[in-house]
Amino acid sequence: MKIKHIFGIGAIALTVVACTTNPITGRSSLQLANNSEILTMSAQEYKSTLDKSKVISGTADAKRVVNVGSRIKSAAERYYQSIGRSADLANYSWEFNLIQSNELNAWCMPGGKVAVYTGILPITKNENGLAVVLGHEVSHALAGHGNERISQAMVAQYGGAILGGTISNAQWANVFEKVYPIGSQVALLKYGRNQESEADEMGLYLMSMAGFDPREAIPFWGRMEAASNGARQPEFLSTHPNPETRIADINKDLPKALEYYRAAGGKI
Ligand SMILES: [Zn+2]
Repeated sequence: MKIKHIFGIGAIALTVVACTTNPITGRSSLQLANNSEILTMSAQEYKSTLDKSKVISGTADAKRVVNVGSRIKSAAERYYQSIGRSADLANYSWEFNLIQSNELNAWCMPGGKVAVYTGILPITKNENGLAVVLGHEVSHALAGHGNERISQAMVAQYGGAILGGTISNAQWANVFEKVYPIGSQVALLKYGRNQESEADEMGLYLMSMAGFDPREAIPFWGRMEAASNGARQPEFLSTHPNPETRIADINKDLPKALEYYRAAGGKI
């Protein structure tokens, strides 16, 4: 059933070859696939993942995940509206769920479908730490990193044929299966290092716009690095910049983040 659904993507996407510029970081990315199709598929996968998981609701932790996530989402929406880019977010349908799992992990599917695992809460420690995680994950969705990965895979596999419009639906489906493995979770999608760096930067600004203290990102990543040392790499440590680079990048971005934080009423 999913395969049939995927076939619909090619015909629409072939008509558009587009680059998109991230309004917050200024980075350009290749966005060849049709977003509404990706978001539909993502929503299906998200639901199926939640159905197979123990979702926590009603607890203080679960409410905190929803509350912090919603504040970051709203801050992003206000920002996109302020620069006339609200249309970018038109088809997003945000959800923030807490899943019972010992893994130190969190992820976001295209379109704003976010999951946080209970295992990471001792590392986030407080709302600011949680905002670092959720800012990062929300940024993967806002920056269209799923679409970009699909686009990169298409170009790598089919090159100029994409521009010539000669890609068959079966070929599109083939690429989709590689990037979004059918039968597993979209959430397992691996992002590239430059995407991770962009999610760090954008997430830092978004948490600040939402009134969370961006200076907390440095001790958070320190706790994360210490806790995951030698363990399986969680999503946001996979293909990540090395810890020193990550901290240096955050320090570089902090002055701008603190401006957003101050504008949101934060105390410096
Ligand atoms: Zn990430």
